[in-house]
Amino acid sequence: MSRPTQAVISRSALRHNAAIARQLAPHSQLMAVIKANAYGHGATAVAHALADHVDALAVACLEEALELRSAGTTLPILLLEGIFEPQELAVAAKAQLWITIENEEQLAWLERAKMPTPVQCWIKVDTGMHRLGFAPDAAGAALARLANSRNAAQAPVLFTHFADAETIGSEATATALAQFNAISTDAPRSACNSAALLTLPQAHFDWVRPGYLLYGNSPLDDPQENTRNLQPVMTLRSAISALRTIEAGQAVGYGCTWRADRRSIIATVPIGYGDGYPRSAPAGTPVLVGGKRVPLAGRVSMDMLTLDVTDLETVSLGDAVILWGAELPLREIASHAGTNGYELTTRMPQRTPRIIIDE
Ligand SMILES: *Cc1c(COP(=O)(O)O)cnc(C)c1O
Repeated sequence: MSRPTQAVISRSALRHNAAIARQLAPHSQLMAVIKANAYGHGATAVAHALADHVDALAVACLEEALELRSAGTTLPILLLEGIFEPQELAVAAKAQLWITIENEEQLAWLERAKMPTPVQCWIKVDTGMHRLGFAPDAAGAALARLANSRNAAQAPVLFTHFADAETIGSEATATALAQFNAISTDAPRSACNSAALLTLPQAHFDWVRPGYLLYGNSPLDDPQENTRNLQPVMTLRSAISALRTIEAGQAVGYGCTWRADRRSIIATVPIGYGDGYPRSAPAGTPVLVGGKRVPLAGRVSMDMLTLDVTDLETVSLGDAVILWGAELPLREIASHAGTNGYELTTRMPQRTPRIIIDE
């Protein structure tokens, strides 16, 4: 038998969540953000599953986009950070990618480039993240320069990215939206990530750009009406590979940090931080065995973790284990591990096989 550790990826859940995104913003075009290997889910598989369900894709960089093109993806693909050196421009144009222009230098590179064809540009505006983008009062001039450049395709998009969309009623978001609205142009616009798609219908504009939500997770602390129907796309699963009984006082795992306070049954599962399960998850973090919650016991190792299964009525070698998925929310594990669900799936390493299923 081969190692049972797998990340199961549901195509139907992806499509279901894309349909929810469409319902939330029925008058906007839908761009699926699949950067960082589709938040760890597998970019090629996700792009293929969503091909007929979204209007465009977005990734962080040229390498990610070219991988999708090699795999046959024909949808438009936006490079969210644009290009990092001018040589990338001709490659991007040839691959029919869309590029972000977020600073003066990128704009000048475009104006000076010798391009095979004009490229579709998205002008990014900094409305408070202070990470990328033109100041709001410089956006109009940037758009005017694109209009005069034969390297820029017609009708560039104006976009921004909120710093605090996950906080409902955030003042920073209200200010950001007001700044964005105050830019006078009839260019198409885009502002919403998942959190804003869920909470800010007045910011849906021409394009919405969800990532996290498409994978079946809500970035909001308070699940809302419209997030209850999301279906988690990834189920991280394994199976019990060893069982032993230890006496009260005996320890489990590296550092002997966990000690049994009674005669205990310890189950070993062949999944560890080398497979994307967070090492920071402490003893007590829930794991499902045969559909029942049991606590982690001892530290997570690179290739294994250990569970206290003493309270299960029956337990056997080979019993199915779920680390997160529909019955055990990613957000709950993330909160035990001191991080968010974005990081957990995005850090899923290559060693963990992605099993794509239709249901
Ligand atoms: C990552 C990203 C998104 C998607 O954010 P989610 O919170 O995953 O929906 C949207 N826009 C930009 C510019 C991004 O970098």
